[in-house]
Amino acid sequence: MNAGEKPNLIVVSCREPYVHKRTSRGVVCERPAGGLVTALEPAMQRLGGLWIAWGDGSADRDFVDAEDKLWVPPEAPAYQLRRIWLTQEEREMFYLGFANQYLWPLCHMFIDALRFKRVFWQGYKAVNEKFATAVLEEAGGAPAAVWIQDYHFACAPHVIKSARPDLPVSLFWHIPWPPWDIFRFCSQKTELLECLLACDLIGFHLDRYCENFVACARECLGANVGDDGFEVEYRGQCTAVKSFPIEIDSQLFQKLAASQKTENSMQRLERKYSLAGRKVGLGVDRLDYTKGIPEKLRALDVFFTRYPQFIEKFVFIQVLAPSRSKIQAYRVLTERVLQKVEELNIRFGTNEWKPVVCINSSLDRENLVPLYRMADLMLITPVQDGMNLVAKEYVASQIDEKGVLLLSEFAGAHEEMKHSITINPYDSEGVADAIRRALEMPEAERKKRIRASRDFVSKHDANTWLDSVMGELASLADLSKHAFR
Ligand code: UDP
Repeated sequence: MNAGEKPNLIVVSCREPYVHKRTSRGVVCERPAGGLVTALEPAMQRLGGLWIAWGDGSADRDFVDAEDKLWVPPEAPAYQLRRIWLTQEEREMFYLGFANQYLWPLCHMFIDALRFKRVFWQGYKAVNEKFATAVLEEAGGAPAAVWIQDYHFACAPHVIKSARPDLPVSLFWHIPWPPWDIFRFCSQKTELLECLLACDLIGFHLDRYCENFVACARECLGANVGDDGFEVEYRGQCTAVKSFPIEIDSQLFQKLAASQKTENSMQRLERKYSLAGRKVGLGVDRLDYTKGIPEKLRALDVFFTRYPQFIEKFVFIQVLAPSRSKIQAYRVLTERVLQKVEELNIRFGTNEWKPVVCINSSLDRENLVPLYRMADLMLITPVQDGMNLVAKEYVASQIDEKGVLLLSEFAGAHEEMKHSITINPYDSEGVADAIRRALEMPEAERKKRIRASRDFVSKHDANTWLDSVMGELASLADLSKHAFR
């Protein structure tokens, strides 16, 4: 896309792909951590177009033009980013309120964590309208495919389609969609479903989430469902509901894992945490109640109690990326997790050794990959997770093929990572036994399992994910697929 041209692809997300921040080192431009940006950004670089997102960086306003836009990536401009500004109140009602204290717990089936205020809902709708208006402005009167990301924008498709019924609109829901028996708790269920069914296409990670969504549309709205079960007709609009499991850029992780920089970092980590001669376990989670972190720590407690032969022989490194700390439930969780880590270290630790090393900050990819590569096992314990990209990143980085992936059956990734060891995070004794099994697993079995998983992630990578979504979008847009490549 050249300056002045209308984009043929407009992407909308809450988080932006590049954030300008004021720091003590001056202004820096960062690419935020997180699965969505990581998966979509290379596509935008390849396809061009326009990305609309919330500009929440402290120096973001200093880097946009009069239309709030800038070309990114800064080092090799390939597409435009339009930043939308939110007031403090909008941020609280839309982002911290309805999106993260209502839709997030609802879709992850944490009914006890639901917090609802009417102003949350009003703020959510207003911000959705703001983003939808930006899409309409950017499209002008021209054709374009609109691709909206995630649960932050359930109401935007309706606003866009009401003004421009000809624009193909698609939304990818990156978190689970719950069964009707859970979704019916939602006081805005009718309006949310009606707004979403303005889309031409809704994508989920798994068929199961598609089936849940279709069942909700049928039960709540009496919508018609096509014979294949994945097309919904409501008030004359047809919506295709399809699964597209999100994948990672596995080559990038492999390359990084094989780099000299990673080798150096591994040696540094080994010295820093006294890992020489010890087996290493790894957890990498955002500090979120869906990730099953207390359940993981409970399992480690059972493991060291039941198998004392591993005292001083096994170190568990847990990366805790801070998240949504303005929300009470997240602060309570953080405190609970840190307390349990301390308790484990006091109970089982010795002068020479700490069973759990806690890295209480978000790491960038260059610092995560050495941990992925050196870990003899990775323990992923969500009690509910739409996908879990960390599982795929671990196997892609396991270039020495020695590690074992222990994966909760409640992570979306579990459906694809068939060669992992299945765990149920609620069964602490089962998880403890699985840790022991992984640590004692013969080399040949470890190799066979991790190799099969690595084959999977290299055959199904971010490009295959994008090609399938883009193929679908292109046929909706009735444009040649070449327009998107
Ligand atoms: N991540 C990161 N730094 C961290 C922790 C996580 O960059 O300290 C990244 C991780 O590499 C992955 C994403 O954040 O790409 C987390 O995605 P996942 O699907 O596992 O969980 P989510 O946080 O999206 O629920």
